[in-house]
Amino acid sequence: MGDPIVRACWEGFGLTNSDEVVLPCGLLQQVNPEQTDLLLDNFDNVFPIVEKALSKSVPLDTLSYRCGDVTKARKPHLHITGINKLYEGGIAAFLGQSGRWAGVMQPITGYVRRVSPVVQDPQMLVWQCARCLQYVTEPNGKQPLECYRDQGGCGKSAASTRFNMIPAPIMGLTKPGTSVNIASEFRNYQEVTLQDIPGTALSIRPVVLKCRLYDENCFRAQPGDIVTVNGTLKTELDLKRKISEHYFDVNSIEIQPRGSEDIKLTDEDMEKIMAMSKDPDIVANLIASLAPSIDGLDDVKEGIVLQLFGGRDIDLGRTQERGTLNILLVGEPGVAKSQLLRSAAATALKSARATGNTSSKVGLTAAVIKEESFGATAYSVEAGAVVLASGGIAVLDEVEKAEPEDIEGLHEAMEQGQVTLNKAGISMTLEAKTSILAAANPRDGKFDPNDAIMSQIDLTPTLISRFDLIFIIYRPKGQEKSRKLAEFMRKRRRGEVVEPIIDTETFRKYVAYAKRVKPILTEAVGKPLDDFYCRMVAMGESNDTLTITPRQMESLQRLAEASARMRLSEAVEEQDVARAIRIMEQSLSQYASADGVPDYSKVVGDVSKSQRNRLEQIVEAVSEFGGNGVPIDDLVARFHNSLPREHVEKDVARLKHEHRLLCLPNGNLKVFDKPRRD
Ligand SMILES: [Zn+2]
Repeated sequence: MGDPIVRACWEGFGLTNSDEVVLPCGLLQQVNPEQTDLLLDNFDNVFPIVEKALSKSVPLDTLSYRCGDVTKARKPHLHITGINKLYEGGIAAFLGQSGRWAGVMQPITGYVRRVSPVVQDPQMLVWQCARCLQYVTEPNGKQPLECYRDQGGCGKSAASTRFNMIPAPIMGLTKPGTSVNIASEFRNYQEVTLQDIPGTALSIRPVVLKCRLYDENCFRAQPGDIVTVNGTLKTELDLKRKISEHYFDVNSIEIQPRGSEDIKLTDEDMEKIMAMSKDPDIVANLIASLAPSIDGLDDVKEGIVLQLFGGRDIDLGRTQERGTLNILLVGEPGVAKSQLLRSAAATALKSARATGNTSSKVGLTAAVIKEESFGATAYSVEAGAVVLASGGIAVLDEVEKAEPEDIEGLHEAMEQGQVTLNKAGISMTLEAKTSILAAANPRDGKFDPNDAIMSQIDLTPTLISRFDLIFIIYRPKGQEKSRKLAEFMRKRRRGEVVEPIIDTETFRKYVAYAKRVKPILTEAVGKPLDDFYCRMVAMGESNDTLTITPRQMESLQRLAEASARMRLSEAVEEQDVARAIRIMEQSLSQYASADGVPDYSKVVGDVSKSQRNRLEQIVEAVSEFGGNGVPIDDLVARFHNSLPREHVEKDVARLKHEHRLLCLPNGNLKVFDKPRRD
């Protein structure tokens, strides 16, 4: 390894201020392929020898530097990058053959799921004896057992003296044979947990790899980053728990640029994709290829396919207008929501799944996790699905069961494309330019068609209003359902599997190509969007309801752009605008009132207009009973002819929740005399 190029590179160490020396593996290979192989295949044994040998080839004065009145040691850290991968697949595959790779230097690429704080790992420490004031050193970060005589100490045992650790270099005391002052030595130490890149191994609970990083490798990785770590797999015995655990001893870390996980397209792929885009049925084929085993739900599938393509991100200098589309599916259990989510995740270029109904502390966005490190409490930061899937789609099931903190994070991600953590002294902003595909169940597992949809989902109106499209999926009516089920069972019995028109791999490649297309919506083509918007607003005004909001005007544009991308068209055309309007109308009509006028206030407001009227009637009735309030039975009797008891009870519960009514100690209801919110 003493070859000229390596030595030259190594000697460059003297010219920098950093202790880090990065050597690309390719360079080593050029110099001496045999020795490089020897090093990589027996890394744990050979590397220390190489490092020592190379240290000796460096002029002595470059191994120290002056700092005020003291001379400090410089310890070169050799980091080898650009290692060739010898195994197929991701982390799970690597660990599956763990025996084969023990001691062999290998690269592992994955998402950073968790980062611990960087701590100081004590190496050699300098101590001062309280009795004789002599300085003694002890390796491995331990306290001396006695005041060592061979270091000039008084020989007292640790029990009969006291040792104080001295962190600063000791003036006048140098290492034998050098001018370097003796000082306690620490190394930066950090633990980082990697998981497979979604897409290579799709799972809610993926296989993870715990990595140990030292020195300059610390501080570099952020949750959600894609990194390659080069190092060796090691095993640690936990004698207390009688288990052994793998960890990855990292020699170097390479942060990969965002989007590097994108699919690589060959010339052949491109030709095929271009040919596909010329097919007049391309849009229909794409839609039909998402979850082909699910019958119907064509609008929902169309919405999800549009989401996979997305609108284009617009950079307006300081601000960015997102191109991501967010979709909420609300439906009773057993309406194939989860199946749709799985399909979307499998087809997306990048995705991560999570469920709101989880006992894990990490949740949907990101969390600060309490851990033990070197016997002390430390706080790690762990990324959830929304951060991991930045640039792709986060698929969130049972989102209504998520913790309030997570919902707050979801808000920020959908609005600003980031998640901020401020907890336990950790303040961190993580990128989350993520499309959200969320599914929620109605509160009682069943829709009441007479009640406002909003009041049946445990999600805040502000969160719901962040979604571009909302689909309400009803359970098929009894007979229809039985017939479909029978049909499905028969098909399965015959071994008939529904094959998609476009297979998932081709679909993903098509999307990857389409993402490069940046369709432009011209003034003339976009006019129907304005007309639609104005028509909806006017319809709302004449019916005194809220039909559409400016936020949905933006949604319409993104939908039209996504539609153009499905055809790989650089221009948004009339058909794209028509598709955007149709699908938005479809989404709005989900919460249309009986006369066909969509009442968006049913969703973004808390209750529908008619329900609000009813609530006002109840408040008025209660107020008529005066200061002593009214027992609920009397109130029910008051509405005897117009409202069933359960409705009155439900409305009273809501009014109590809104702090409009309160319950007196005797159980009577009374109007709460507080200025009204609205
Ligand atoms: Zn002593």
